[in-house]
Order: sequence, then C-alpha cells, then structure tokens
Amino acid sequence: MTLHKGASDRDRSRQPRPVNPFYGEADPVAGMETSPPRDTLPEGPVSPHTAYQFVHDELMLDGNSRLNLATFVTTWMEPQAGVLMSECQDKNMIDKDEYPRTAELERRCVAMLADLWHAPDPSATIGCSTTGSSEACMLAGMALKRRWSRRNADRYPATARPNLVMGANVQVCWEKFCTFWEVETRQVPMEGDRFHLDAACAAALCDENTIGVVAVLGSTFDGSYEPVAEICAALDALQERTGLDVPVHVDGASGAMIAPFLDPDLVWDFRLPRVASINTSGHKYGLVYPGVGWALWRDQDALPEELVFRVNYLGGDMPTFALNFSRPGAQVAAQYYTFLRLGREGYRAVQQATRDVARSLAEQIGALGDFRLLTHGDQLPVFAFTTADGVTAFDVFDVSRRMKERGWLLPAYTFPPHREDLSVLRIVCRNGFSEDLADLFLTDLESLLPELRQQPCPLDRPENVATAFHH
Ligand SMILES: *Cc1c(COP(=O)(O)O)cnc(C)c1O
Repeated sequence: MTLHKGASDRDRSRQPRPVNPFYGEADPVAGMETSPPRDTLPEGPVSPHTAYQFVHDELMLDGNSRLNLATFVTTWMEPQAGVLMSECQDKNMIDKDEYPRTAELERRCVAMLADLWHAPDPSATIGCSTTGSSEACMLAGMALKRRWSRRNADRYPATARPNLVMGANVQVCWEKFCTFWEVETRQVPMEGDRFHLDAACAAALCDENTIGVVAVLGSTFDGSYEPVAEICAALDALQERTGLDVPVHVDGASGAMIAPFLDPDLVWDFRLPRVASINTSGHKYGLVYPGVGWALWRDQDALPEELVFRVNYLGGDMPTFALNFSRPGAQVAAQYYTFLRLGREGYRAVQQATRDVARSLAEQIGALGDFRLLTHGDQLPVFAFTTADGVTAFDVFDVSRRMKERGWLLPAYTFPPHREDLSVLRIVCRNGFSEDLADLFLTDLESLLPELRQQPCPLDRPENVATAFHH
C-alpha cells in the first residue's frame, strides 16, 4: 500500500478544534468538547455515533466511484450481493476447515473458470482465489520461476539469472514480480502504432534463462488484446529451431472475463497447449467488489508441488497457495453469487452492453474532431485517445483537469518506452456506466471544448503555467 510518513510539523502543531454541540460530532457521553486528534490515538473512547460522523464526513471528499472512468474495478453490484457480502464479513478465507462451505464455493468458482477457459482436463486443473490479479501474477510468476530452476538444476550454472519476457505495456505487477523475486525484466518496447507485445519480438528475447512470456489479454494502456495465439506459435517455432520450451502465462486481469463471452472464437486460453497459467481479477469484469482475483494452472506440472503449503493448526489439511494468510471470504461468496446469478448468457449480455457503450462513446469522441482514437473499445470495453494532430491550444492533461470540475475522473498519462512522446486519455467502461451516463459525459466534454480551444497553450504543464498566468 501507499507508503506514508508520520505526522508533519504542521499536523503536530494543529490545535484541537471545538466541536459543534448541535451537530452529530458532539459527544455528551464522552464529555467531548474538542475534536479528537488525527495523528495520535485519542486518549479515550467516543460513542459509535460520534466516530461514525467524523469518518463519514471526511470520506465525503473522496471522488464518486461511479464517475471514476480510470478504474477497472467494479463499482456497482446488486443490493443482494451487498447483503451477502456483509453476512460474510467475519469469515476468514484461510479457515477452510471452519468455513467449509466458503471453501467449497471457492472450489466451484475455480472449476467454472477452468471450464470457461477450456482446460483440456478440468480435473487436473488447479487454481485458487487471491486478493486480486497482482497476487495471482506473483503466484504464477513464482511457479514459472520454480519450474525453470527445476528444469535447469543440473544444466546451467547456479549463477544463471532468470528472465521474464513481456511487453512494455504490462501492468506494474509484473515489474513488481521481477523486482521482488529477482528476475530480469525483458520488455519489448512499443514501436510506432504497435502499443503491445509482438510475437516475433517476444520470441527474439527468449533464451535458456527465460522462465516464461507474459501475454496480456487486455492491455491496461489502451484496452487492446495481445496476440496470444501468435505469441504461442512464435514460441513453438522457437522450440523447433532451438529446443527451448518457453511457457506462456496469460494475464487476463480484464480480458479473461470479456473474451469468453464476447469473442468465443478468439483462441487465447488453455486451448493453446503452451499456455501454462491464466489469471483474472474477479473484481474487474468478474463483476465483484474489490478484492478478489483468480489464478489457474493447466495441470500439476505447471505448479510445482513444493510451493503449495499445508497447515494443520486450523484443523484439517487443505493445500493452499497464497501470499497472505488471512483474507476476507466475502468476495469469494460474491463471486459465486455473480456466477450463479448471471450464468453465461447473463455475463454475455452485461459485457456486450458495456462494449456497446464503449464503442459508441469512442465513435462519438472521434467524431468531435479534436481527438484521435488509439483504440475503439471493441476489445476490452476500454479505449484511449489523444488530441488530434494540429491541436495546440490544449492537451490531454487539460481535458482531464477540466472534466474533474464536472466530477468525472478521467486519467491522462504518458505511454511507456519508445512512445513516451504520446500522452493519452483513457476511458474504462464498466457495468453501471450506462448509455445515459456516457451521454452526460459527452455533453460535459463537448461543453468544455470551446473554452479549451481558446487557450493560448496547454495550461497543465508546469513550464506553461507560469507564463499562462501572465495573460
Ligand atoms: C488490473 C491489472 C492487474 C492488477 O490487478 P489487480 O486485481 O488490481 O491486482 C494486472 N494486470 C493487468 C493486465 C491489469 O489490468
């Protein structure tokens, strides 16, 4: 999580403020006359009502999650899912023996995903829930690394440094994996209008120390699918030429819950023999509140047994593979609820509606003339766009800042190596971002454009702000 520092001088010198006796924060029971300190534990308790009021009031200043077009994470679920989750708040996912039904729901979810992702032998497929895709990717990366070191135990010197091949567009979790587990990151940079991993470039970076190739189904940067089948074919050819057998992990954080429903003919999953493991975020297009993810391995071979732990001090002897020990069980119950509630047809309908919104919004933004679309929302329901050639009065950072005035959280960012020159805006359409809301978004964007076009220059760049304020 964010690394925080202790209280600053300013925080420490802050005087206690009197509380308003006619507002909910006053606490006659605790005899409280001033507000509690912020950075040290208060001396004594206050009533739950008072505590609630303080925390509730402060949180009002957070953004509205439904207007957050930056996040992939679910911001709307049915009330029944909320009820179910609050009923399970006290259940610890690790206590498999104490909460056997929660453990069983987790097992069923894994089985359903194995089926959805075309595992050739579902009874051999193994998988687990995680806190999200990041943890799932750590686990998958560890399995790749262990397989590599096992395979090479007697062939290569112990000093050989493992590497992992990926596109420069990977989500930060892969850079974390490589840093935390001391694996060399081999990234294929972006090139011109290619914004994700290319099969030939991926194969070219592989050598005898490559633990695997990560293919992303649904790039975080622009919503495009990486060509998983082509990457596998290039690695098949590499094996034929050199004997190197490099497994593929598919990071399907978003796409593994989109493609099976909307692009059933796209072959990206366990149908490809080279795909050893797949992850997804249950809390993205799995349609569950944060935090739940899933990691699945094709078979026992893909997940070395020594990484799996069995503890007996909770009773029972259930094998687990996880970074955490304790974890909330509610999200797993909610995932099962959603699978049961929607079924294949329900998921298809939800994801199709979301993609329809993305495509139509992308098209309308493209038609404004001020922007150039990089993607069109027709793979992940996500698209990126930048200012059109010749637009010099404003840039994407201005658009992001001005849309915030209307409550929309629309991220602007620069692209990774070789295309750092390119800055984009990205819209992630999710369940609950309806056609109607998309319409309101477009109206707000359109209404800002006349002012933006009048700007003397982009105003959000530090180097421009000083000069702009002279006008
Ligand atoms: C979101 C995302 C992740 C990280 O997933 P979390 O569930 O947020 O931990 C990893 N890879 C890709 C491609 C993503 O989109």
